[in-house]
Amino acid sequence: MNSFPENIDFWASDEIRKYQEQKLGDLLNYVNKNSAFYKELFKENNIDISKIKTLEGLQTLPFTSKDDLYNRNDDFICVDRLKIVDYITTSGTLGDPVTFAMTDSDLERLAYNECKSFKVSDGKPEDIYQLMVTLDRRFMAGLAYFLGIKKLGAGMVRVGNGMVELQWDTIRRIQPNALVAVPSFILKLIEYAEANGIDYKNSSIKKAICIGEALRNPDFSLNTLGQRIKDKWDIELYSTYASTEMGAAFAECEYGNGGHHHPELLIAEFIDENNNPVAPGESGELVITTLGVEGMPLIRFKTGDIVQHYTEKCSCGRNTLRVGPVIGRKNEMIKYKGTTLYPPALYDILNEMEYVENYIIEVSTNQIGTDDILIRIATNGHKPENFEKYIKDHFRAKLRVAPTIQFESQESINKTKFPELKRKPVVFIDKRKK
Ligand SMILES: [Zn+2]
Repeated sequence: MNSFPENIDFWASDEIRKYQEQKLGDLLNYVNKNSAFYKELFKENNIDISKIKTLEGLQTLPFTSKDDLYNRNDDFICVDRLKIVDYITTSGTLGDPVTFAMTDSDLERLAYNECKSFKVSDGKPEDIYQLMVTLDRRFMAGLAYFLGIKKLGAGMVRVGNGMVELQWDTIRRIQPNALVAVPSFILKLIEYAEANGIDYKNSSIKKAICIGEALRNPDFSLNTLGQRIKDKWDIELYSTYASTEMGAAFAECEYGNGGHHHPELLIAEFIDENNNPVAPGESGELVITTLGVEGMPLIRFKTGDIVQHYTEKCSCGRNTLRVGPVIGRKNEMIKYKGTTLYPPALYDILNEMEYVENYIIEVSTNQIGTDDILIRIATNGHKPENFEKYIKDHFRAKLRVAPTIQFESQESINKTKFPELKRKPVVFIDKRKK
């Protein structure tokens, strides 16, 4: 089992680096011995891993892509089947999922990660968290929260996702002080409370760990979603960003200026479209190398998430790098008349627009080979005159794009938005020629 130096967050930068470089050496030896994929990769590229001793050295290794994971899934698994405790899946690039094999030691690492992440977000043993996420369906997240809270020594009540009435009933009975929830679901809780005369402002809830959706703009101010929650319900909001491939999270401290990196669990790089490192404050794709993973360690894995990172010391005293909200997915980048943007910027505008109840964004390639944006909208039944023009003008002013607007019924939007076998609602449809 691993033992991690939890106070590493407060070490000097060169001490943190030294720790990571030592662990990197261990990792390279481990995968070279146990992973069919990496063994072959090093051999084919004539890589002498004994020469890679620094983070700069790491940058000479090839990347690992989602396609590699999809095409060679079993070759990434470093342990015998007998050692695997938990099987987790993520959606693959071409439809079929990718399986992540977790050993007992990996579950312990996950517990450590989540416990530490809760602590960064002001978690204490006296807290009681209400988990508004699912613990099963082959997900990692719910399990991670369960393990982390247990390790923290705090209490929890596992309600699962959805079921607004049961959520409020649980809050009334158990009196938890914290939520773990998707921020848009917190809005649903507020709506339900208002419609049913629940005095939510005086409930036991004082804070929320917000997962799955961004809460802030790149400048760390609350985005539309975050502000809408805060305007109604003045609880502390902490954003957290994680993925199955990382088996680790970036969690916000009380200062809310990006998620703190756990350097003992991940080596993080940030690269541009040509695979060159980007400077702090610039947008780049997050690339991760996992430390301390036994089942399926990854080296220079391209996450596809575009983020900005910051390296100066945080007001909380931690010396770890911070990662801002995910600006978008790399493969969802829209090129529009000389500007580039990501769907979340469009969502943010639609989320704050009155009368807009539901929407889907479709991107396609037009005759001159650039991207066209179609926004399919269902209104709440009321629609002011010239609403289409109003929406277009708003997009032009805020993002310098003029999408095509198409009004549809709720039914028709929901039919596309919630396909039976998908885990998440489909809000973005990419019809572009690749
Ligand atoms: Zn901090």
